[in-house]
Amino acid sequence: MRNIAIIGSGQAGLLAAHGLINAGYRVTLYSDRTADQWLNESRPTGTAARFHLSLEYERELGLNHWEKAAPKGEGVHLTFSPAKDNRLLTLAGRLKDYFLAIDLRLQSHRWMNDFAAKGGQIEIENVTVPRLDDIAAGHELTIVAAGRADLCNLFERDAARSVYDKPQRNLTMIVTTGGKMGFAGVPFLPVKFNFFAPFGEAFYVPYFHKDHGPTWNMLIEAKPGGPLDRFADCKSGDQAVEIYKQVIKEIIPWDYDWAKDMQLADPHGWLVGRFAPTVRNPVGRLPSGRIVAALGDTAMSLDPVGGQGANNGNKMARNLVESIVARKDRPFDAQWMTETFERFYARTGRITYTFNNILLEPITAAGKMLLMAQYGSDGRVRGSTGQQRIADAFIENFNDANGLTPAFLDGATARAAIKEKTGMSWPFAVVRGALGVARGQIRQKLGREPGHPVA
Ligand SMILES: Cc1cc2nc3c(=O)[nH]c(=O)nc-3n(C[C@H](O)[C@H](O)[C@H](O)COP(=O)(O)OP(=O)(O)OC[C@H]3O[C@@H](n4cnc5c(N)ncnc54)[C@H](O)[C@@H]3O)c2cc1C
Repeated sequence: MRNIAIIGSGQAGLLAAHGLINAGYRVTLYSDRTADQWLNESRPTGTAARFHLSLEYERELGLNHWEKAAPKGEGVHLTFSPAKDNRLLTLAGRLKDYFLAIDLRLQSHRWMNDFAAKGGQIEIENVTVPRLDDIAAGHELTIVAAGRADLCNLFERDAARSVYDKPQRNLTMIVTTGGKMGFAGVPFLPVKFNFFAPFGEAFYVPYFHKDHGPTWNMLIEAKPGGPLDRFADCKSGDQAVEIYKQVIKEIIPWDYDWAKDMQLADPHGWLVGRFAPTVRNPVGRLPSGRIVAALGDTAMSLDPVGGQGANNGNKMARNLVESIVARKDRPFDAQWMTETFERFYARTGRITYTFNNILLEPITAAGKMLLMAQYGSDGRVRGSTGQQRIADAFIENFNDANGLTPAFLDGATARAAIKEKTGMSWPFAVVRGALGVARGQIRQKLGREPGHPVA
């Protein structure tokens, strides 16, 4: 039986651990915290909303314990504002299959215990580089799934692929109770996005909290120095909640009634930070010359704006497990590690990273066309209109970025997509949307609500 070590008990490490133990490997998981410490003393490392393709892998591994109880995100409701106090347009798109965001602390706690129950070995220690060298000496393959913690620096930044060399947003995440599970006028449970072109994004994700169950995971993606960028000095989660409510009152007043009674779900349920989205070389070399393989955020860290990091790590874990099984008895050498990652990158990693980065940048001309052409769909009758099919394709792209990403990058592809989805000639669809948007602008100038469909 081949023996494999995995460093890190986040979702990527644990998915690989389960995939491998289910396939008959001897697996040792090294974690800097126990299952109980995950549950009671840790912060969630992110929101980690996962879409159908990722959830399917978790189902296959028998890890979908919260499927019945967790709130099912059915789509997206997005408001695009080119400036404060100007809601230019909305997009309401539905997924074919729901997404789930499970508290990572609850998840790691349960998945570690499940792993031990299957006979997996767990060592609790904060693995240093010299210790990693020992571990690599004792295992045929050592996988580092330590997130963005220090060990990720063993893996060289891939300068050609890493578009950014500094953080693009200052991030805030808080888990809150007290918000109704839904929005007036939106006939499904969405992730609610507010995009402000000049200063960043605020979005709210239906979430399953470890103690409170259905709750909201509230994020801010602040462009540095802008009016969303107020959380850097927060000393507590309660303070972050109060500032978030103030932000909503001032900048997103249409959501204030919904948000005003929110409270922090638990003292650890919040994060403030920043990091540069990075793609790394998947092979890490230790001082001895031994090699280790990167997985999850250690290999690729994506800005949370597109909710892609955990999905990406999930797909990467599946690819790695498949590649290990296919390797049979041959050595896990550097060439195999590189080819394994490249297969994943070509299938999904590259396009996911591209899509995620599109959301950090000013909207492309092709993207504007798509947003205009979808405008007018009302989200109520699934697939009832051509415009709705574009809105649905937008949120489906979070499940599989191979769908609509190319259309965001290229005018001809966008025009073809509009024609295919709406059944109309693209100028007609765009002009029709633009007229609707213009009506919304006039209403706002007259001091009225913009009157967007599904407002
Ligand atoms: C604010 C925010 C919101 C997000 N929202 C989403 C979203 O909606 N959808 C989505 O798909 N992604 C999202 N992400 C990204 C997602 O949370 C991460 O991609 C994912 O959790 C990373 O999982 P991981 O297992 O690779 O790393 P981690 O979750 O960081 O886990 C690694 C674990 O390894 C352990 N470890 C680290 N170093 C050592 C060591 N030396 N020795 C032993 N153990 C060690 C620690 O316990 C650590 O927790 C978000 C991220 C953030 C920050």
